[in-house]
Amino acid sequence: MGTQAFGASKEYASNLDQQDELAFFRDEFYTKQDSIYLIGNSLGLLSKRSEEALEAIKESWKEFGIDGWTEGEEPWFYLSEKLGEKSAPLVGAKPEEVIATGSTTVNLHQLIATFYKPEGKRTKILADELTFPSDIFALQSQLKLKGYDPEEHLIQVKSKDGRIIEEDDIIAAMKDDIALIMLPSVMYRSGQVLDMKRLTEEAKKRNIIVGFDLCHSIGALPHALSEWGVDFAFWCNYKYVNAGPGSVAGIYVNERHLGKAPGLAGWFSSDKTRQFDMDHQLTPADTAGAFQIGTPHMLSLAPLRGSLEIFAEAGIDRLRKKSLRLTQYMMDLVDQELKDYGFEIGNPREDHRRGGHVYLEHPEAARICKALKANKVIPDFRNPNGIRLTPAALYNSFEDVWHAIQTLKKIMEEEQYKQYENKRGVVA
Ligand SMILES: *Cc1c(COP(=O)(O)O)cnc(C)c1O
Repeated sequence: MGTQAFGASKEYASNLDQQDELAFFRDEFYTKQDSIYLIGNSLGLLSKRSEEALEAIKESWKEFGIDGWTEGEEPWFYLSEKLGEKSAPLVGAKPEEVIATGSTTVNLHQLIATFYKPEGKRTKILADELTFPSDIFALQSQLKLKGYDPEEHLIQVKSKDGRIIEEDDIIAAMKDDIALIMLPSVMYRSGQVLDMKRLTEEAKKRNIIVGFDLCHSIGALPHALSEWGVDFAFWCNYKYVNAGPGSVAGIYVNERHLGKAPGLAGWFSSDKTRQFDMDHQLTPADTAGAFQIGTPHMLSLAPLRGSLEIFAEAGIDRLRKKSLRLTQYMMDLVDQELKDYGFEIGNPREDHRRGGHVYLEHPEAARICKALKANKVIPDFRNPNGIRLTPAALYNSFEDVWHAIQTLKKIMEEEQYKQYENKRGVVA
């Protein structure tokens, strides 16, 4: 990174790109010449290596039929475990603590079914009021399955400003009637990073099980789940990890819990050497593999293999550094170029509290996003007034950021957004 003072010129952006040691990874991805993709926090782009991995699974099916489970270059029977091991560096876990399986919401169900053990006075689950709806629905239904009223037993820590949840408020809510805590690592809307280390410490002091949803941090920033002593975590692989729409997700379970029977069992929870005994008594795997349920979705698992290779080469620490530079640069441009147009930066500004995206608030956000899209800058609208812009460290450049903010400035100057209705689409 140069020492050159910040400037709003295009040359300044190209200079930053020239100094970027990760810039060449862009060529690994199918980016479009004429548009700027800033929505990798919702669905990451296809890489050539993921495409090849998908192709390879298809070929092994063609070639081996059912024997693909045990033959070929990547026998399907072991692929979930193998990709779990390769995901471990992204979450700071031991190889046996991670499994590639299921989907985010199903994995949350599995983990709550396993770890939520109401007993005596400890019957409540602690979450927060800004969490993604699917997570809350899963917690509510798990409470109902145990015969509890979510109105009383799901405690959601309040936000003071609709953007941030203060760690102090979460810790204050860790009362002696809480059995389990489930929190996001990064808030999907404001991009706030929660201090997982501190929250885990505080939960452990009070003997409360604590788990995190890593959907918005996996592939964006490093974690040290094992070292922090987090009990469980789960995530999707289609956002920053670029493994494709509906790709197989992930589970981490701390080694002190390995050997536990899963709350939701199936034959793929088995110790692999015992699975085909066809016994009616489950012998669970002694790894995170025990939290699988049924036959893995091979075609949705394959692209992850290619993605994880790229992450192994780029390194999550280097990616985080670049991501922080990209989002800092974007915020600096917003401050300087958009100051007359009523935008508010809604994400925390400090490096350690800022995730992988910039979050802008504006009353006309819905139609500003439509105008951006018409100008070939792809943003992410969040109802009612949020614009998420994600410069992904693997395939976005500083010039992309520059172009995006210049486009936004032009849309505001020319009031282009007024051509559109200020309403969201069905998927937004
Ligand atoms: C993306 C996301 C989900 C999505 O869950 P799926 O089961 O993959 O549909 C859930 N929670 C959070 C926090 C997310 O960001």
